[in-house]
Amino acid sequence: MAPIRIAIVGVGKIARDQHVPSIRGNRDFELVATASRHGTIEGVSSFPDIESLLEGVENLDAVALCMPPGPRHSAAVKALAAGKHVLLEKPPGATVSELDDLIASAKAEKVSLFATWHSRHAAGVAKAKAWLANRTVRSLRVDWKEDVRKWHPGQAWIWEPGGFGVFDPGINALSIVTEILPMPIFLTSATLLFPKNRAQPIAADLVFADSAGEDRASAIFDWRQTGPQTWDIRVITDDGELLLQSGGAKLFIKGELVVDEGDVEYADIYRHFAELIAAGASDVDLRPLRHVADAFMVGRHAFTDPFED
Ligand code: NAP
Repeated sequence: MAPIRIAIVGVGKIARDQHVPSIRGNRDFELVATASRHGTIEGVSSFPDIESLLEGVENLDAVALCMPPGPRHSAAVKALAAGKHVLLEKPPGATVSELDDLIASAKAEKVSLFATWHSRHAAGVAKAKAWLANRTVRSLRVDWKEDVRKWHPGQAWIWEPGGFGVFDPGINALSIVTEILPMPIFLTSATLLFPKNRAQPIAADLVFADSAGEDRASAIFDWRQTGPQTWDIRVITDDGELLLQSGGAKLFIKGELVVDEGDVEYADIYRHFAELIAAGASDVDLRPLRHVADAFMVGRHAFTDPFED
């Protein structure tokens, strides 16, 4: 089979760090072009925007939309209307309802739409899900604490409306939680902490209940952590404790380390994208995005000192 001819739209940090090497490392894909206002990749044809990309590249099969969530919907609409398979970086959009539009469009055009959640592809996640499947979860706790200055230097969009603030990393935790938990949970309360000079939160505390209305899960997202960084999910069950660390790369069950692998997330994302295209299928799970939308709906807003880069 000929490789899937793919273009990257939005050449920034994640495109360079992960998408380019993962596409180049997968024989099912060929990176044929990029579209970005400033960013380019050496040796790859570049276009200033998605319109000129769609017009200028012959036999383009797919696009990976790696820009911030705000402008993603408008690019996806154009790519789908042109009959291209579309991979969406996370968060898949700035609102929940714009995703319904894309799902309908992908169906009408008979192309694959893949809303990626890269943290779900971390090495320990599938095993954590399998272990929890036949156990009773008593409680789950997320600690997702990192230094915004280290991970998002100069990214003004992340603080703007539609940029998600601390939910940009926090939604990764929610993507794992919704994947591994054997039952649904519902947000019951939240506190969102905004720097007085920013439109998006720097920290958030969330509480979730189960169907019976019992508090079952909680999460702390915080962008003010210096020193060691924390991306942990701890689940207490009727049969002992499960701990995902390092964003899901390490898995401990009852204190024993059972998975400890490096970064496998984006290689697995492109393996799955090729699989979806071959099967004529889409994969769009909006549960993590819905939880974030719920937090903005029910969350109590609190304010803290102005944040300076
Ligand atoms: P970034 O470094 O700011 O790159 C995004 C690129 O998108 C920009 O360089 C820009 O390139 C283009 N762009 C198009 N419209 C834009 C707009 N209105 N505002 C700003 N940039 C715009 O961001 P990133 O870290 O790569 O993140 C992009 C997406 O990937 C986000 O949804 C993020 O959550 C996700 N992600 C990031 C990471 C990470 O570690 N950074 C990890 C996983 C997922 P031009 O100026 O050339 O158009």
